[in-house]
Amino acid sequence: MSSPDPSAWVVHKFGGSSVADAECFRRVANILETLPPGKLGVVLSACRGVTDGLLGLVARAEAQDDSWRGELDALRARHATIAQSLLKAEAAQLYMSAFDRDRHDIEGILHTVKLTRSAAQNVRDLIAGYGEIWSTKLFREFFAARAQRPGAIQWIDARQAVVVEWGPLGPAVQWDTSRAKLRELVPENFQGTLIITGFIASDKRGVQTTLGRNGSDFSGSIFGSLLDAAEIHIWTDVDGVLSADPRRVPDAKVIDSLSYNEAMELAYFGAKVIHPQTMAPAVGRGIPIWIRNTFSPEKAGSLICALPTSKMPVKGITSIENIAMVNVEGAGMIGVPGTAHRLFGALREEGISVILISQGSSEHSICCAIPGNEAERASRVVAAAFDREVKEGQIQSIQVDSGLAILAVVGDGMAGLPGISGQVFNALGSASVNVHAIAQGASERNISVVVDNKDATRALRAVHSGFYLSPHTISIGLVGPGAVGRVLLEQIAAERERLLRDFKLDLRVRGIMTSKKMLLSEQGIDINGTNSWKAALDASAQPADIAKFVDHLHVDHLPHTVILDCTADEGVARHYADWLNAGIHVVTPNKKANSGPLDYYESLKTARKAGSSSYLYEATVGAGLPVISTLRDLRETGDKISSVEGIFSGTLAYLFNVYDGNKPFSDIVKDAKAKGYTEPDPRDDLSGTDFVRKVIILGREMGLKLEMRDVQVESLIPPGLEQGTIEEFLAKLPGFDEQMKKRFDAAAARGKVLRYMGRLTADGKATVGVSELDRTHAFANIALTDNVVRYATARYNSNPLIVQGPGAGPAVTAAGVFADLLRVCSYIGARL
Ligand code: ADP
Ligand code: ASP
Ligand code: MG
Repeated sequence: MSSPDPSAWVVHKFGGSSVADAECFRRVANILETLPPGKLGVVLSACRGVTDGLLGLVARAEAQDDSWRGELDALRARHATIAQSLLKAEAAQLYMSAFDRDRHDIEGILHTVKLTRSAAQNVRDLIAGYGEIWSTKLFREFFAARAQRPGAIQWIDARQAVVVEWGPLGPAVQWDTSRAKLRELVPENFQGTLIITGFIASDKRGVQTTLGRNGSDFSGSIFGSLLDAAEIHIWTDVDGVLSADPRRVPDAKVIDSLSYNEAMELAYFGAKVIHPQTMAPAVGRGIPIWIRNTFSPEKAGSLICALPTSKMPVKGITSIENIAMVNVEGAGMIGVPGTAHRLFGALREEGISVILISQGSSEHSICCAIPGNEAERASRVVAAAFDREVKEGQIQSIQVDSGLAILAVVGDGMAGLPGISGQVFNALGSASVNVHAIAQGASERNISVVVDNKDATRALRAVHSGFYLSPHTISIGLVGPGAVGRVLLEQIAAERERLLRDFKLDLRVRGIMTSKKMLLSEQGIDINGTNSWKAALDASAQPADIAKFVDHLHVDHLPHTVILDCTADEGVARHYADWLNAGIHVVTPNKKANSGPLDYYESLKTARKAGSSSYLYEATVGAGLPVISTLRDLRETGDKISSVEGIFSGTLAYLFNVYDGNKPFSDIVKDAKAKGYTEPDPRDDLSGTDFVRKVIILGREMGLKLEMRDVQVESLIPPGLEQGTIEEFLAKLPGFDEQMKKRFDAAAARGKVLRYMGRLTADGKATVGVSELDRTHAFANIALTDNVVRYATARYNSNPLIVQGPGAGPAVTAAGVFADLLRVCSYIGARL
């Protein structure tokens, strides 16, 4: 980073944030004093906020609001505090008397502004420019008194050196005049440090002007060019040019090196760290620009130069908010030359700058982005410009939409690399961001999309993580931390770090809710060990409120939200459609939604499409077994399913696996209950209702339009025992053992066994109940509580496809949900 030619100038520019207070001035001095010997041009901004403050004075005076006097006092007090801290008493006094002369002038000007109620641009420029004069004079005194750097220290008032001419493209530097003027100010053989005012300049007549807001960066590079500097260093309050605005994308990364063009695009589209005009003078002379952090000078920073070494195809993503789109549409425009010319001509005449242009190849419509605050004016001028065409019907509509933002994806390496725009749109689509317009420059260095303001941060983050510039952060909310939910949290906690490290997937559980309370966290709940979140949840004073819970999860700055519903609750399931419509992904083992009314089930499928969100529920049937995904794969690949049969209840599987006609059936029910294989009330299993729900879910997955009432179900609760306590039920159950035994013996006489199973056929028949099966049947030979599913299809015909294994229990159910969660992550772009 050290200058290649020790006799060459190096220009260092410090932004407002680097000279915010006395401590900052000391820091700047330290940085300069540790640089290698050589000639330094030091360009300073005004102390942070001072330019805004000065412009605020003008605005108040224009509004005849006398409070500007108090504000001016405050500006004085700020500088006095810094001067007193940095300078000896006498020097501070001298500095303040000069300040007071300026203040007197400002008072005079503002008095006139108040009387005339308006300030001309040159008055505004004059006032705005005092900030740089004050900061540089103060720093000069301080730096000279420290006398830590060899050579002379000279203050340069840039108004005496830099001459610019303001045109439609901003200030144009008059290089020859400026060079000559600087030569007059700085002796040929000067050795030492120039302390230079940023931001201000003069016009050809010698009247003070500025280089526009944030113009000190431009000053830095103008002086770099005027002094033929070997390097320009722009010192600010971040580690360099970041892959996105760190206030919007907290995990933005420093770009180690980027080209002038990349930097220019990023700056133009809002990367405030560098002013877009900064580059031109440096590019002309091939001067490398370093962006560095005043607060961490040891860090390398970013290098902006002609031939950067970094090979990343996408360097950064930026956004400009509050823009409006002008859209002119009409069949009469097709093949008619000059429409674009007239549109842009009309806007230019009004001084409305066009940020982005997009035209379909059919020429049927043309649209452009302009600053949002110009929307109304633009609407008027464009309507006037095309008045005749509108009346004659050649143009059907002129529309100006506000509340939009531009997102720009920038990188030289995108040129010629297929798939980049696909990645951008994938990321946007999966974050449910609607795109209003698209523009890509012929250089392929920039892809710009217009999105809603409200989606801008989410879009930025989605695209940023889409390019692996930051992890895919998933905002997760878990409803119902019961047996399954709890284990699921354990499983996520165990894999979190690995997923982050290997796949840049950041699973953040930001909310846990029971039926009574909820626990919310911005950065993510600590789920390492059940005790930690359990204690926090117990301590939480926030009552359960599903709307608040969802609002907290689905924030604009996190592109992806997943709700894990681990309840068996119908009330929770009723929210899925709204969530899916809002772009929230839903993953659940809860059967209530899919087995509820068919209308609702179908509305979920529609909502999923509308919100481009995923709805996954593998764990609703057979827990973690791939029952639904297998069925879906068969259908999607064009297989014809003739029937699906199975045992979808571990409890009922157990009862019939164990029952051998000797031990009474009622004893087996009691044993199963004692072993914890049944629901607390075994009738919940024996009724077959839960089984029917699973059959419905599979049937609908097959494309059958089934309701619960369409399933013919055999309940194993003997008639008359539906009501009453569990104890009464168990006491009366032996009275029916004989009946079951008869059935068993009859089957055995035919060489068959009994199994409680469900059957679905392609013609829409659905039955659930006890069947007789051959002893060799797959269902006759499963382990105790296993689930089993048998798919008979055109392809799996003589030898059906069978999925079998443990189909109940918290660990396998949670794993099924977890696998679905990861599936959602891969749909949104995580490469698992
Ligand atoms: P200075 O006072 O040094 O001129 P600015 O506030 O003008 O500083 O610019 C620096 C700020 O720009 C940073 O603090 C950061 O918040 C913001 N910024 C926006 N986009 C980017 C980006 N892509 N890289 C770095 N900083 C950015
Ligand atoms: N002080 C000026 C501004 O705030 C210039 C700068 O800081 O770059 O716009
Ligand atoms: Mg700046």
